[in-house]
Amino acid sequence: MSRFWSPIVSTLKPYVPGEQPKIANLVKLNTNESPYGPSPKALAAIAEAAGDALRLYPDPTSMALREAIAARHGLSAGEVFVGNGSDEVLAHAFMGLLKHEKPLLYPDISYSFYPVYCGLYGIEAVEIPLDDAFRIRVADYDRPSGAVILPNPNAPTGIALPLAEIEALLAQDRERLVVVDEAYVDFGAESAVSLVPAHDNLLVVQTFSKSRGLAGLRVGFAIGQRPLIEGLERVKDSFNSYPLDRLAIAGATAAYRDEAWFDDKRRTIMASRERVAEGLAALGFEVLPSSANFVFARHGQRAGADLAAALRARGVLVRHFAKPRIGDFLRISIGTDAECDRLLAELSAIL
Ligand code: PMP
Repeated sequence: MSRFWSPIVSTLKPYVPGEQPKIANLVKLNTNESPYGPSPKALAAIAEAAGDALRLYPDPTSMALREAIAARHGLSAGEVFVGNGSDEVLAHAFMGLLKHEKPLLYPDISYSFYPVYCGLYGIEAVEIPLDDAFRIRVADYDRPSGAVILPNPNAPTGIALPLAEIEALLAQDRERLVVVDEAYVDFGAESAVSLVPAHDNLLVVQTFSKSRGLAGLRVGFAIGQRPLIEGLERVKDSFNSYPLDRLAIAGATAAYRDEAWFDDKRRTIMASRERVAEGLAALGFEVLPSSANFVFARHGQRAGADLAAALRARGVLVRHFAKPRIGDFLRISIGTDAECDRLLAELSAIL
């Protein structure tokens, strides 16, 4: 606390990022990164960009990347917004699109950055409970509200809504904006990007951090009709008109174009996820059905905090979630096959 703080600073409850320890040989399954790293083509593009040109400012519109993303979906660059990680894209959306007189709705068990942004931007929010199976029930969002944001698949549950449910949500009120945060969509869920041309009340947000193995590069993007993207651009140009640096634009553009690498890695992760889910079930865990690169699981007999601590002592890092409405869960990111084997072996030794 300092007397130099603006009044709002003392009211903020900032997001606490997952642990990024500097311990050698740790199996790191706590923050949903890809175990496989980026496409070699992305690394080559970054190496090429890391030269004399770094003395020059980057393209403030990140046009090369926006065009690469738009081309994949048959859209134009004006329907794509890019930012420094999807967290920054989301922050711009909260500031520029999600503050209304009526409250913002989001699931009560969801990405914990949403309440943080609401605090920062003074947005009134109503948290809508998940059902007893930890699912989002779209019918519960059919109520007076200014906007909706939800992750699909949801985090940290990993459970996805089918596209028809997203369509139903959009149809509840065509005057209400729906932001679908698709950070984990590439691991088996249906993307809502195909709905953008027919829905001016939809913004879809994605990231390079998970399925493209580029969490360290900090690139995310949003897809929506032009007026929504123009709103985000206004916020960006009032905040940081160069969100992406030259390395990020080059690396992300090459990564997005390398569909073969992306497809191979996401499929491998999905196959490993099924193996981990079976292994955990055999060890007495209840595992929620995941469409993400992590599983959300609880053990019938053993407390999650104890299991997370015991795993950590054995060099495996997972995330523990415990809340009154959610119970006592571990969220375990899917690693390489060797890492998944190690996780299961350590757990069976602990149990
Ligand atoms: N949305 C969700 C649901 C997430 O879990 C995350 C990762 N913490 C993000 C967005 C942000 O990811 P990034 O800023 O790395 O793109």
